[in-house]
Amino acid sequence: MAAWMDPSRSLPLPALNDEEGPRLPEGLPPVVDAHVHLFPDPVFEAIWRWFEQYGWPIRYKLHTPEVVAFLLSRGVSRVVALAYSHKPGMARLLNQYMAEVVRAEPRVVGLATVLPGEEGAADILAEAFAAGLQGVKLHCHVQCFAPDAPALHEVYEACARAGKPLVMHAGREPASPHYRCDPHALCSAERVERVLKDHPTLRLCVPHMGADEFDAYVRLLERYDTLWLDTTMAMADYFPIALPRRALDVRPERILYGTDFPQLPYAWDRELKQLLGLKLGDEVEAGLLGQNALRLFGGVLPERNIPWG
Ligand SMILES: [Zn+2]
Repeated sequence: MAAWMDPSRSLPLPALNDEEGPRLPEGLPPVVDAHVHLFPDPVFEAIWRWFEQYGWPIRYKLHTPEVVAFLLSRGVSRVVALAYSHKPGMARLLNQYMAEVVRAEPRVVGLATVLPGEEGAADILAEAFAAGLQGVKLHCHVQCFAPDAPALHEVYEACARAGKPLVMHAGREPASPHYRCDPHALCSAERVERVLKDHPTLRLCVPHMGADEFDAYVRLLERYDTLWLDTTMAMADYFPIALPRRALDVRPERILYGTDFPQLPYAWDRELKQLLGLKLGDEVEAGLLGQNALRLFGGVLPERNIPWG
């Protein structure tokens, strides 16, 4: 088993004072950040407080308009924005909030959320899709569910029916003993495989390269054409692990560049620099940095990276 983090580790993890670039390097293909968080101010602030106590220091305490402006002004072409609810009755508000963000800035691809098992879950998602949201985000650790729990069935079916992808933090890490549930008890690649088998038309993206079951997720990528992974934080050389790059060799068209911005303890472009350092070649890079995400979430990009004005 990969030693991702020692549960007895001292928390929070450190901030890195690494240097940040002023914008994306010249000559890159269009870049989509497929994993950005946007929340209403009080929710953002509560999450930052939690992270600073139990996770890592947040370098970019930016609210929604600033998050979007920050990334677009540095050359990112599209931002896939995620939120998640942690109690019943919260999802509709988050979805309405996200739909407003998308209306104000069409370069944001907004995803909906729902708390699995809450009353009217399928209706909540149908409303969110009708309001322009282009997929769903779930978080097994924060929302405390196993990927193959029965309550998930209606969420999977709602996504599959609407043809909307689901981004689900279904890997065991990064975990925290301060979650209300034990991610290692709830999450496993095996359970995710059950979901892929039972819902063959559901398109599923698992963040963090499936941390920490990297090899198991590579095997799933090889077997299922409905699975994607995003690189978020797993390819940034922050956690004490070897970069899990094998998935990029095996199914490069299934991997999305994502960062977790703004909840980062390091420079906004750290992960991108790591990925460019792998020298993956133009075609793989273009897919990883933008085109794979567009194929999953829909949308078109300019041929060149056009600076934001
Ligand atoms: Zn995230």
